[in-house]
Amino acid sequence: MEGFKHKRVIVTGAASGIGKATAEQFIQQGAQVGLIDLHADELSQIKESFGAQVYAETVDVTDSQGLLSAITKLADAMGGLDILHVNAGINGTFTPIEALTIDEWDQTINTNLRSTFLSVKAAVPLMKANGGSIVITSSVNGNRVFSNFGASAYSTSKAGQVAFAKMAALELSRYNIRVNVICPGAISTNIDDRTDVEPAVADIEIPVDYPEGARPLKQETGVPEQVANLVLFLSSEAAGNISGTEVYIDGAESLL
Ligand code: NAD
Repeated sequence: MEGFKHKRVIVTGAASGIGKATAEQFIQQGAQVGLIDLHADELSQIKESFGAQVYAETVDVTDSQGLLSAITKLADAMGGLDILHVNAGINGTFTPIEALTIDEWDQTINTNLRSTFLSVKAAVPLMKANGGSIVITSSVNGNRVFSNFGASAYSTSKAGQVAFAKMAALELSRYNIRVNVICPGAISTNIDDRTDVEPAVADIEIPVDYPEGARPLKQETGVPEQVANLVLFLSSEAAGNISGTEVYIDGAESLL
């Protein structure tokens, strides 16, 4: 399939999980893809597997100037930008509010929310002449789910992304730039390995009657490829009238 031939795409958080699956699907469908992540080795591996149509910048998305210039450099290398998937994110530290340090709060908010603003800010001048699509990865957390105790910074960052996407969708519609936001439930990626859950979370937990392992739609956790399918659909011409909306991709688990 070459559904995205001639499209120029940037994906942040492209070295793992949802971002990696999305980048690979865009590449397989003929797009040129610019990858952004902290992890240079994983980016090189993707570049080596797919070759000439792939560009990469190793940058920390909390480094404002670094992120702005990485997006500009990748767009320059590809000759423009049509599609942006704002996806880099962390769970950060899960702990009670009174124990959460200011640095821990800032790390989560800056990685997830501030970088969303910066990525979109960098993309607007690159997309405004020809239009384009922006998809932001938020979460069920902060939007439909508030029972992940200790995740106050994470949930706040994810709620902020949805509000920002709606503001951006209206503001950027004059340039024919569509902005949508996806809210995955549990997806099998590396994100949990990098999560710091403090033992004190046990002190603030309120028991939630949620059967262990159960999912309404299927007795399985979601996989990154399913989320990538949604990002590609929202970025395609078939989604030409969809903007400013959030789409949940969670097997209906957040409705429990
Ligand atoms: P992941 O850990 O597998 O991948 C995230 C990628 O982002 C990693 O490659 C990591 O290096 C990169 N990244 C993190 N901090 C960065 C930084 N400061 N600068 C540059 N790159 C950075 O996780 P994932 O599950 O694929 O997460 C992707 C997005 O999906 C996140 O925004 C996350 O909040 C969201 N999400 C995930 C789930 C889930 O269950 N996995 C559910 C809902 C939402």
